[in-house]
Amino acid sequence: MAKEVRVRFAPSPTGALHIGGVRTALYNYLFAKHHGGKFLLRIEDTDQARFVESAEQYIIDSLKWLGLTPDEGVGFGGELGPYRQSERKAIYQEYVDTLVTNEKAYFAFDTAEELDAARALAEENKETFIYNWSTRGKLKNSLSMTEEETKAELAKGTPYVIRFKIDTDHTILLNDLIRGKISIDASTLDDKVLFKSDGMPTYHLANIVDDHLMGITHVIRGEEWLPSMPLHELLYTAFGWEAPEFAHLPLILKHEGKGKLSKRDGDKHGFPVFPMEWVTEEGTAKGYKEEGYFPDAVLNMLALLGWNPGTEQEIFTLTELADLFSLEKVSKSGARFSPDKAVWFNHQYLQQKSTEELLPSYQAVVKAHGIETNNELDAKVIALMKERANFVSDIFDQARFLYIAPSSYDEKAAKKAWKDDSKAILLAFVETLQSTDFNAVALHDAMAKFVEEQAIGFGKIGMPLRLSLVGALQGPDVPVIMEILGEVETVNRIHAMIEALSE
Ligand code: GLU
Repeated sequence: MAKEVRVRFAPSPTGALHIGGVRTALYNYLFAKHHGGKFLLRIEDTDQARFVESAEQYIIDSLKWLGLTPDEGVGFGGELGPYRQSERKAIYQEYVDTLVTNEKAYFAFDTAEELDAARALAEENKETFIYNWSTRGKLKNSLSMTEEETKAELAKGTPYVIRFKIDTDHTILLNDLIRGKISIDASTLDDKVLFKSDGMPTYHLANIVDDHLMGITHVIRGEEWLPSMPLHELLYTAFGWEAPEFAHLPLILKHEGKGKLSKRDGDKHGFPVFPMEWVTEEGTAKGYKEEGYFPDAVLNMLALLGWNPGTEQEIFTLTELADLFSLEKVSKSGARFSPDKAVWFNHQYLQQKSTEELLPSYQAVVKAHGIETNNELDAKVIALMKERANFVSDIFDQARFLYIAPSSYDEKAAKKAWKDDSKAILLAFVETLQSTDFNAVALHDAMAKFVEEQAIGFGKIGMPLRLSLVGALQGPDVPVIMEILGEVETVNRIHAMIEALSE
């Protein structure tokens, strides 16, 4: 039987989760679901200098809002935890000790000043300093020192780091599921620090140890981690472990110009790059959630930023995406983000959703405007107005007049609609309303009959009537508006306008 597929999303809690990170989580989720495997959330919080307190909860809340629920991980349980790296210190210590014992890693005592000096010297000679086979013999480490000297330094408590000893005599052959085969000359790599003086492992060590212990079969992550891949392969070899398969996802590019989509692009152009609002002392960065996007629309949009199903279809449920998803169809080149396309997806999802589905979020918008309302009215409004809306809040913006009577009349519209005979025409129409059923069909017929009897053009009644009800010459069919407002409100609004506009 094939091994169970196990993948992980392994963010560092250094700030808000960028939508690039959300896409990484999504592709991991889809890959796991496609193969009937498991999707893990691991929090990589070994870099204490960059740690941001609220980031972990933000990541968890974002995944929950999006519906990308991990099967295991911080906040989600599981057998192979703890899933927060800061709680796994003893584990990393044990594994790094093994590497030292097996002479795959070594102690280095060089101070920051000494390393700076070595760098400066290399620069003078127009060279780049690399801590590796070419320099380690001249530096302060357990490879250049005798065993006694090393022991003495350790006994004295001299601060040290543990570095990985990279053997240089070979070419490292890598295979990336998206990029194919890559070969790297091992002699160009540096002896990366695996363990820091603060007793914490670096990302590289913790990442490999955890992927191994958590049974990760596929590492699916952003392109920025591709340069770490040779080192990671070498670490697996050094431990004598089988490496997982790797897939490095393309960048998400700015909507215009060159480079990676950044928070600054969002701030500048007013679109969100974070799933949820991110509040810091410097201010609040927008979130898709608060801007009124549906989580399924956001996921659908992100799914197609770097992957394509090979057809023209654009709208997919999460289950459909999981069925179709494959790493072979992920592109190598960057995917250009489009704020307009994000809105387009939301529009499509809004149209697909039923009135009942939209009702709760719509009513939250109505209530936020301090309006007392009821299900029947709101359901009618949603059905009537959603076609032109991109967001639930657009429905209310277009339907405000169905809740609140106009307090003024658009000047240009009034000029066009309000004529000398308008008052008399409206009053005569109000008369006919008394004997009309208040439904759109009957009201439509009543208007038709009225213009015939009065021998006037339709606009003579249609325009002032609309102006009185809406406050502008906009909105859906007038009979439909009248039906929703009801007889009392309709008549009140007609009288209110007559009073306001009559001299
Ligand atoms: N902690 C890394 C990050 O923040 C994880 C990279 C990986 O998936 O290996 O993206």
